[in-house]
Formats: sequence, structure tokens, C-alpha cells
Amino acid sequence: MDFALSEEQQLFYKNIVDFARSRLNEGVIERDDDSTFDREGFMACAEQGLLGLAVPEDYGGLGLDVVSCMVAMEALGYGAKDQGLAFAVNTQLWTCELPILHFGTEEQKQHYLPRLVTGEIIGGHATSEPDSGSDAFAMQTKAVQDGEHWVINGNKTFITNAPIADVLIIFASTGEKRGFGGGLTAFLVDMDTPGVSLGKPLKKLGLRTSPTSEVTLEDVRVPASAMLGRKGGGAAIFNSEMEWERSCLFACHLGAMQRQLETCVTYAKERKQFGEPIGNFQAISHRIANMKLRIEMARPMLYKVGWLKDQDKRAVLESSIAKLYVSEAYVQSSLDAVAIHGGYGYMNEYEMERMLRDSIGSILYSGTSDIQRNLIARWLGL
Ligand SMILES: Cc1cc2nc3c(=O)[nH]c(=O)nc-3n(C[C@H](O)[C@H](O)[C@H](O)COP(=O)(O)OP(=O)(O)OC[C@H]3O[C@@H](n4cnc5c(N)ncnc54)[C@H](O)[C@@H]3O)c2cc1C
Repeated sequence: MDFALSEEQQLFYKNIVDFARSRLNEGVIERDDDSTFDREGFMACAEQGLLGLAVPEDYGGLGLDVVSCMVAMEALGYGAKDQGLAFAVNTQLWTCELPILHFGTEEQKQHYLPRLVTGEIIGGHATSEPDSGSDAFAMQTKAVQDGEHWVINGNKTFITNAPIADVLIIFASTGEKRGFGGGLTAFLVDMDTPGVSLGKPLKKLGLRTSPTSEVTLEDVRVPASAMLGRKGGGAAIFNSEMEWERSCLFACHLGAMQRQLETCVTYAKERKQFGEPIGNFQAISHRIANMKLRIEMARPMLYKVGWLKDQDKRAVLESSIAKLYVSEAYVQSSLDAVAIHGGYGYMNEYEMERMLRDSIGSILYSGTSDIQRNLIARWLGL
């Protein structure tokens, strides 16, 4: 076993951290207060190559292996305090570009990928609905064939990037069957297609710099060529997306946890109470030790997923385990970080309160913790 990153990967990590620190962090408190998306920062990520990590060079990307993509995301999470922006980048990468790359026709790839990589267009994906979240197969959005076209009707909610998106992968029911050979189909829907409308941006607890909204589809007519993959192939596309997101997005969270740990160590050395640094009190130092422990457990879990995927092996179980662990570890460490900072941890000029708010979404998106436990239990034959 070799746990070391190559020299190239280490340099790649360092460059992205330097880039994120210098280009993405200024004004983050104000943007978080106003729920403003940093489009300039997003374009800077594109210039840095971050929007094309896993996309082959033929379509303008870097064509990197999965582990290197995770290294890049860990670096982004470590360097960038604007976790909402990082979330928007992750959404574009794993839930829009990669499904197109893996399931799209050559025409779809040529049409969308180069522009997604340069940031000229922004994308996302829409599965969730007001009455169908964890139970995606219960979705009410329907696509009905009409000659050479499909007509889509329905409502989607909680859609990341929707207010700024040019294209969304819309999942719709095209039949009654559940499961892989079932009745969900994915469509590439341009946001300027007649019948597509946006709800007001949704106000959120955290990740406020990442825009989110409802999307309504009313008699949206798309050509048959807008279908992504095959009819009934939606579940397979969704699962493939989730495997990527549960590893790479959560590598970004791992990076954030590392910055949080370092901030806490520094604070525990500097802050004095009862005449000595609070880090001398076991209550504080043990919290910090637990934060370190969580990071050390999370990293191999996550990178194992990348390694498996680089061997062309499925990593459904491993990505669920990693997602579950990292998200819950992230929330717990964020609570510890606030506690270590005392009252300052609660104030918004310190990063700790924002990190706590940002972290909580991670136990919900990409499948809630309960759903991950269900998946793991199912793999164990229960
Ligand atoms: C920040 C953020 C960004 C998001 N971005 C997107 C996006 O871009 N696109 C998109 O499609 N969706 C997105 N979502 C939605 C997300 O995928 C859903 O919130 C998630 O799947 C849960 O669905 P729900 O909110 O409807 O909760 P529900 O499914 O209603 O669940 C409610 C509670 O019941 C529990 N529960 C439900 N079923 C079971 C079960 N069988 N066993 C045990 N417990 C169960 C859940 O764990 C949860 O605690 C986003 C969500 C957030 C918070």
C-alpha cells in the first residue's frame, strides 16, 4: 500500500491552495451575509482549470484521474473560505459535466462540455421535488413522448446553481417501474427553453453564497436528442453522479476540516484564560485531538473511493460509507470548533460559525445520513 501523493499531486495541491487563498476569500463574510454568488471567483476557478478536472483534453479539460480530482477538491476546500462557491463548482463538475461525459452522445459532449469547462455556461442537476426527496422514484415530474419531442411537466426544489444555470439535467418519470431498468429518465434542459421558470432564490442556513431555487417545468418541449443516456436509464446516471459527488465534494469538506483544525490549534495556543493558553486545558486539547482523529479517519475512506474508481471498480458502498462518515465528522468538528472559540466562535467575523452552518447541509445532500445507513445495511444483506 502506498499512501503518499506523487510530487506532481503535491504541487498541484499547493498551487490550488495558493490560488484559492489569493483569489476566492476576500469579501466572503459580506457575500455570506447577502447570499451573493461570486461569479468572478467562479470564472477564476475556470481559468485555474478547476472546472475541467475530470473532463478529457479533447473537450477542454485536464483529463485527470479520480484521486487527482480529489486532491484538487481537498485543496480547494482547504484554501477557499467561500464554501458556497466551492459547492457551486462541485455541482457543476460532478452532477452536470460528468453525467454528460459518461452518458452523453458525442453531439451532447461537444455542445456542452467545452463551455462548462470554461465557465461560459453553468450547470446543475434536478432530482428533488417538494414531495419527493429521499424517495426519488416517487417523483411527479413526468416526460411524455410526442413524436420527435418529449414534453416535461413538474416542479423541482432545492436545486443548486439553478438561479445562475444555463442548463440543468432534469430527472423525470417516463414509466412506473422503480430501480435501474426503471422509469426515470434524464434530460438536458436549457434554462431558456419556453416553459422553464425559476422560483425565488431559497434562503438557507449555510452555503449561502451558492444560489439555490425551485424550478418549474410547464409543457417544456425538448427534442429527443436532449435525452441523456437511454430511456429508463436515469437511476444509473443518478447513482454514478452520487458516487463522484460523495467522494470529490466530500474531499472538499475534508480540506475545510483541515483548515478548521489548524485555526483551532492556533487559537488554543493564543487565547489565555486563568493565566494560561486554553490549549493547556484537557477539555480543549482533547476536542482538538478528536478533530485530528476524524480527519485521519476520513482521508483514507475518501481516497479509497478514488483509488477504486481509478481501477474501474464500483465504489457504491465505499462512497456511502465515506459520505456518511465525513459529513457527520464535519458537523461534529464544526461544533467543537465553535466551542473551542467560545463566544468568538459564535460571531460572524470568525469563520467558525459560518463553517458550522455550512457543514450541516452535508448530512442532507447527496442522500441523508439515514439513507446512507440504509444503503450500507442493504449491502450487508439487511
Ligand atoms: C444545500 C442543499 C443543496 C441541494 N442541492 C440539490 C440539487 O442540486 N439537486 C437536487 O435534486 N437536490 C438537491 N438537494 C436536495 C437533497 O438531495 C434532499 O434534501 C435530500 O435528498 C433529502 O430529501 P428531503 O429534503 O426531501 O428529505 P426527506 O426525504 O423528506 O427526508 C426527511 C427525513 O426523513 C428521513 N428519511 C426519509 N426516508 C427515510 C428512510 N427510508 N429511512 C430512514 N429515514 C428516512 C431523512 O433522512 C430525513 O431525516 C439539496 C439539498 C441541500 C440541503
